[in-house]
Parts: sequence; structure tokens; C-alpha cells
Amino acid sequence: MTAQLSGTTALVTGGTSGIGRATAVALAGLGAHVVLSGRDATRGAEVVERIRAAGGKADFVAADLTDAASARALAARAREVGGQVDVLVNNAGVFPFGPTGSATEEEFDGVFATNVKAAFFLVAELAPEMAERGHGSIVNVSTMVAKIGLAGMALYGASKASLELLTKAWAAEFGPSGVRVNAVSPGPTRTEGTAAMGDALDQLASAAPAGRAASPEEIASAIAFLAAEGSSFVHGAVLPVDGGRVAV
Ligand code: NAP
Repeated sequence: MTAQLSGTTALVTGGTSGIGRATAVALAGLGAHVVLSGRDATRGAEVVERIRAAGGKADFVAADLTDAASARALAARAREVGGQVDVLVNNAGVFPFGPTGSATEEEFDGVFATNVKAAFFLVAELAPEMAERGHGSIVNVSTMVAKIGLAGMALYGASKASLELLTKAWAAEFGPSGVRVNAVSPGPTRTEGTAAMGDALDQLASAAPAGRAASPEEIASAIAFLAAEGSSFVHGAVLPVDGGRVAV
């Protein structure tokens, strides 16, 4: 049987850690040539090595995603390294938590720059090419706190709520040309990025029916489902992968 993504190239941002790394491994396992990006070249090389050791195809491209220029430059490098990009996973993200009164303008701009602006311009760069070819799949990584208001998560949640609206608008814009755009909305997930939360992660997770935090692999398998053809009739969906938190 041919692997679902064989012959395709997938760009995974934030592929050096946590959910992005698990996604890179999952998509490579489905046969994609994975181009993973992040800032940390050492961690990037480790992920590439892991995928290649398992018989997959992967390359790392260093990128600090903070503006349109860095997003466009990453898209250009991904094309050089992997050829046409068929799958884009907008996963790179920052999530500083804290009271609104303590947030600086610099923090505000930084959160929106990575979580919204870079994703926007990666899509602006890559989706029209996918549309011209008549196929492609884009998966944005949101969060359950884009749907529910939690104290300390106003800025982060607002940035991901923007990404969820963009998911629907892009589904309308590019879907008629064969490009599916969807999102996953994870709940608390044990990653390097949430390690510093300690017990607070488990407390947050305990409010959901599943009652526990997710592994990065549990989020990645939902991303892989949306990326591949098994979800061929799914457009503009935001799939909660949150142990049931926003359902109850
Ligand atoms: P993580 O372990 O902190 O990893 C974040 C990734 O994003 C890293 O690969 C990092 O790359 C990359 N990144 C951050 N800032 C960047 C920048 N300026 N330029 C380029 N890359 C950048 O995070 P995670 O927990 O896996 O989260 C991944 C995504 O899932 C995020 O969008 C997050 O909002 C979302 N999410 C996470 C949870 C959770 O509980 N973990 C829940 C809901 C949603 P480098 O370190 O190499 O730069």
C-alpha cells in the first residue's frame, strides 16, 4: 500500500519541539518529505536524524518567524530544499501567560507576530501556488483557549482566535481550488513549552472529561489526519483535540 503522503513535501513550523516535532515524525511516517523549521539548529538536526534513521525524508531550515519577510524567506528555502510544498502546518507559536495589566506592547506584538502574522504570510506565499496546482492542505495549530475565556490567557487566546477565523476565511478562499484549510485546537499537552507550568498543566487538564494532559503524539495524529486525504471532505474545520474540554 502506498503511504498516504508519499511524493509530497510538508513544511512544519516549530518542528524542533513538542507538538511540531511529533507532527514532523508523523507526516514523515506517512511518506512525506518533511521540511521542519525552528530557531534551534541543534534540536532541528536531532529531529532530522530521528526521521532519517527511521527511513523517512527530512530537512531542517532555520527560521525566526517574526514578520512577513521571515515567513516569505522560509517559504523560499522550503521550496529550494523540498520542492513544491503540498502540506503546510502552521505550528510555531509562543504562549506567554499572565495578567493583562502586566503585558507590555512588545509582548503583545511578539505574540501576534509569531502566532498570526508569520502564519498569515506563509499562507499568502504558499497557498496560491497550491491553488494553481489544484491541491494542497494547510493545518493551523490553535488552542482550546481560543474558545473559552481563561484568566491569564487573554493575549494568547486572542492570537489563536485570529488564527481560527483565518482558517475559515482561507477555507472559503482556497477550497474551491482544491486546497483544504483546517485547524486543530489542542488542550493542555506535555511539551518542552509547557514543562515550566509543572502541576498547573495537570490542574488545567483536570477540568476536561479526559482528566489528563495530552502527549504531543496525540495532537500530531489529529494534525496528520487533517493533512492527509483521509479528511478529503473536511474544509474549514477547527477540530478540538482537548480531552473534551470545550464540549462540556
Ligand atoms: P514548544 O514545545 O514550546 O515548541 C514551540 C515550537 O515553536 C518550537 O519548535 C519553536 O522552535 C517554535 N517557535 C517558537 N517561536 C518561534 C519563532 N519566533 N520563530 C520560529 N519558530 C518558533 O511548544 P508546543 O507546546 O509544542 O506548542 C506548539 C503549538 O501548539 C503552539 O502553537 C502552541 O500555541 C500550540 N498549543 C500548545 C498547547 C500545549 O499545551 N503544549 C496547547 C494548545 C496549543 P525553536 O525553539 O527551535 O525556535
